[in-house]
Amino acid sequence: MTTQSKHPETVGLHGGSFRADPSTNAVAVPIYQTTSFQFNDADHAANLFGLAELGNIYTRIMNPTTAVLEERLAQLEGAVAGLAVSSGQAAISTAILTIAEAGDNIVASTDLYGGTVNLFSNSLRQIGIEVRWADPANPENFRTLADDRTRAFFGETLPNPKLEVFPIGEVAQIGEDLGIPLIVDNTAAPIICKPIKHGAHVVIHSTTKYIGGHGTSIGGVILDSGTFDWERHADRFPLLNNPDSSYHGAVWVDAVKPLGPIAFILKARVTVQRDYGFALSPQNAFQFIQGLETLALRFERQNQNAAKVADFLSAHPDITRVIYAGQQQGAAKDRADRYLEGGAGALVGFEHAQGLESGKAFINALDMLYHVANIGDNRSLAIHPASTTHSQLPADQQRSAGVTPGYIRLSVGIEHADDIIADISQALNKASIGIAAAA
Ligand code: PLP
Repeated sequence: MTTQSKHPETVGLHGGSFRADPSTNAVAVPIYQTTSFQFNDADHAANLFGLAELGNIYTRIMNPTTAVLEERLAQLEGAVAGLAVSSGQAAISTAILTIAEAGDNIVASTDLYGGTVNLFSNSLRQIGIEVRWADPANPENFRTLADDRTRAFFGETLPNPKLEVFPIGEVAQIGEDLGIPLIVDNTAAPIICKPIKHGAHVVIHSTTKYIGGHGTSIGGVILDSGTFDWERHADRFPLLNNPDSSYHGAVWVDAVKPLGPIAFILKARVTVQRDYGFALSPQNAFQFIQGLETLALRFERQNQNAAKVADFLSAHPDITRVIYAGQQQGAAKDRADRYLEGGAGALVGFEHAQGLESGKAFINALDMLYHVANIGDNRSLAIHPASTTHSQLPADQQRSAGVTPGYIRLSVGIEHADDIIADISQALNKASIGIAAAA
């Protein structure tokens, strides 16, 4: 079914080519729990391995259940093709490893998920890929830091804790000027931000978060816009333009000519995924297909609830600052207005007047909200970064990451807004009483 111009609610259910299972007519996407697929004959096998024909070989590289997820997510983001992998981290690693090798560099935003910062500062460095850090407040920093070994720009649409939207269009344009693709991690802003529409070339999601929604499965996806001209920038992208000795000399930009502009994502699948093996299990692909069916409805409610929580916190006497994409000022507000549509996301931060102790006391006083290091669950979640995720960083680095002693991060869920606010309210009261009693 063609749903190219359809809405996210519809794409989540009908996106891609799956209509019913071809062998049983089952409407729900079957879980093809199999490692391998039988070839019709020797020529069929040779064609599949030679990429003369695309089809199933082995679940590490492709799987029909996973393919439905990939097609639907690609359609949701306006991409030409996708590759689902075993985690958000695997998606980021795979995207970089597809185009960069030792001696290359990428320029990344300073405002990123901590796990990505670790991957970039340690694991990529260990294999000789340098990461240069650009403050996204001034997009021109990306141009300044790039050189002829820069293989990608990398940013996150709605990074926490600062919740200042990444300048997608500005950095994508610098990338177009220099011949460098922009990879955007859109995990925190599905549906409300369409990075490809704003010029991004590759989109990443940790499907673990909103797309799954139910907190059951870890997964990730890489989505290729098909808009980056790898062939025009052949000098910068030898891995896509020179014969690949790991695949009987395939030149990826040529190999895909009969298939469409999928050189990047095809190489990711048949070399990086083949070799590193970050495969998503068909069971987890099924879980994400279930999540995707209701993503638009759930996330709409989460956005509405987050706006109500932010309003409540803004009016609360013990709160000195609310950090929420819908309540930013200046350039951050302009970017939120430009890049977010139909909501400002479901992440809300706030700063308690009495700092570290009150932040911890607030967390301990919560009845309903879960205290976990996660975002994007259907349930509302809370964490106090200064005593947990960021506690190993010195105070100055915590501050530059946007983590102040009293900062609390909320990931607002789909419960009734009144119940979420009631729990936050009672926990704030208990935190204030506890602090007053101790003083
Ligand atoms: N990107 C963002 C924005 C995240 O928040 C996370 C995890 O929290 C990841 C990537 C990594 O995803 P995963 O935990 O699925 O590997």
